[in-house]
Amino acid sequence: MTERLTLAQQHLYTFRACPRRFYLRFLVRVPWPEAPLGLEQEQAYERGRRFHRWIERHFLGLPVADEGDHDPVLRRWWDTFQRHAPPLPEGRRFIETSLTVPIGPDGKHRLTGRFDLLVTGGDPVAASLFDWKTGEPRPIERLRRAWQTRVYLYLLAEGGVALTPDAPAAFAPERISLTYWYVEEPLQPRPITYDPAAHRANRVELDGVVAEIDRQLTENEWPLTDDWTECRQCAYQAICGRQAAGQAALDETADDDEEPDHAWLEPQWG
Ligand code: SF4
Repeated sequence: MTERLTLAQQHLYTFRACPRRFYLRFLVRVPWPEAPLGLEQEQAYERGRRFHRWIERHFLGLPVADEGDHDPVLRRWWDTFQRHAPPLPEGRRFIETSLTVPIGPDGKHRLTGRFDLLVTGGDPVAASLFDWKTGEPRPIERLRRAWQTRVYLYLLAEGGVALTPDAPAAFAPERISLTYWYVEEPLQPRPITYDPAAHRANRVELDGVVAEIDRQLTENEWPLTDDWTECRQCAYQAICGRQAAGQAALDETADDDEEPDHAWLEPQWG
């Protein structure tokens, strides 16, 4: 296989978790059936998707709540957002905006991400990302290492200027930040800053994993993970003969810092 891939954070996460899962899910596209966890988690993801949609409509100036939607959890989340959303800087707002840059050997592949909210502006001009989370709040140290963080910061530093060509200085690494806001801890937003050294390290790591994917594409070998705990949250157990791994409990898999809650069930692929 020599195709050009468009990779988002969930692809990198999945490849690192298990190359075979990456292959099955994103290359041959074996349908991802209902996760072993079943209905409860699926409902949580659907609620997270709707919450993101409401926030998007809010920033677009559109009516928010669906008529007749009385989901008490969603209503509580929305009330929390209205009262405790993080303060936003002045500037131009980009809502649910995607950015894609070349990556990998000779820029052969693409790295992409979709931002909940980006604000560019201020003095000095800066680029501030905001990401809404409905899952279990994560410590900031863990968020710093998350694929989402690494991919989003890299994308902005490498390609943000395409969004505002008149303000390229906003995308100098030291002017970029990403703030995670958890609906369950609304008064404790988690701001993550960036700088040139972090960007260089990030580039090395992202180039490395993409080069590894590229190599395995050439060799067409996709080993099963040695870590059977990964199989506990994988819908391909039967295909791999890993049923003995068992099934994960909900709190083992609510890992929305790595697997964004609005992207898990329908993988983005281009
Ligand atoms: S069941 Fe295990 S080995 Fe098979 S794809 Fe899933 S994580 Fe990988």
